[in-house]
Amino acid sequence: MARVYNFSAGPSMLPLPVLEQAAREMTDYQGSGMSVMEMSHRSKQYDAIITAAFASLRELMQIPDNYKILFLQGGASTQFAAVPLNLIGKTGKADYIVSGQFSKKAYKEAQKYGDIRLVASGEDNGFSKIPEVKRGDFSADASYAHICFNNTIFGTKYPYIPDTGDVPLVADLSSCILSEPVDVSKFGVIYAGAQKNMAPAGLTVVIVREDLLGASLPCTPVMLDYQTMADNNSMYNTPPCYAIYIAGLVFDWLLSTGGLSARKAINEKKAALLYDYLDSQSFYKAKADKSCRSMMNVTFVTGDEEKDKLFCAEAAKEGLLSLKGHRSVGGMRASIYNAMPIEGVEKLVDFMQKFAKENA
Ligand SMILES: *Cc1c(COP(=O)(O)O)cnc(C)c1O
Repeated sequence: MARVYNFSAGPSMLPLPVLEQAAREMTDYQGSGMSVMEMSHRSKQYDAIITAAFASLRELMQIPDNYKILFLQGGASTQFAAVPLNLIGKTGKADYIVSGQFSKKAYKEAQKYGDIRLVASGEDNGFSKIPEVKRGDFSADASYAHICFNNTIFGTKYPYIPDTGDVPLVADLSSCILSEPVDVSKFGVIYAGAQKNMAPAGLTVVIVREDLLGASLPCTPVMLDYQTMADNNSMYNTPPCYAIYIAGLVFDWLLSTGGLSARKAINEKKAALLYDYLDSQSFYKAKADKSCRSMMNVTFVTGDEEKDKLFCAEAAKEGLLSLKGHRSVGGMRASIYNAMPIEGVEKLVDFMQKFAKENA
């Protein structure tokens, strides 16, 4: 059977060359006589896999030497607790911007661990727009300030990196990591669940500035303590071995295809195909404000729920899958992560034109 174009927000498409290599190595990884899934995480062979994955990610994102990379479990949602547990001890206070459902969850979870201030929220405009904030909006005595950089459900993304002064900026990059270069030095902590743009579910990547380590609250579970994980090269316990192996293959695929600048150019082209079409007609309406449209998650509606439903059903018949918007907002969402080829987006735009003609 031919592969479909899968527009799922996550888990989502993985690059075909990566899947093919994983298939070739499935039962006998490089002469070991076993699958990576069956390998001891303490073996020499696995050590080479995880070491290479750390190095490739560092090169790909140009992560400075004073940052540690952690390969963890529990998804981005576990970081909603791990971030305050590790960082809030400094002053007991933290600032949050709520720009969508995930940042709202992070904001709520953090309230268990300290004095949490809401700097700005986009809830009043239905999260269609990223709040605008200035340096003066952040508290000087916050231990950190938290944002979600790309809002997967609403399809919005910060068009800028907020200036928080000396307060470390913590950002959830789950749905935009590796889509374009980011200046890691502007952040204290970056975290991301892998299943959107990096690997299968089960791996969470945390990138943390070294001076922020070692200040966790005494009640921090050892499994959530960044210092413990950093000291043990993310192998305090069994890491998500297979997901890390696939992530390594994805990092190497990105490096061998020109790195993140080249990837950004392709992603801009893909997103422009959809947004230019959406702006050129009136049958569909793009949901995110023009000032902060996501390059990864494109949300739109017809304005008629029955037509939205029909759209997703008809699209699926053409091999364009998982276009249904998040259950909380409805409509359509096309997630066009790195592994979505431009041909998939072209086919989607063709389908949208045809559907509009037939259903106007
Ligand atoms: C998907 C997503 C999450 C939740 O990730 P899990 O790995 O399922 O916990 C959090 N934040 C953002 C921005 C996401 O896209």
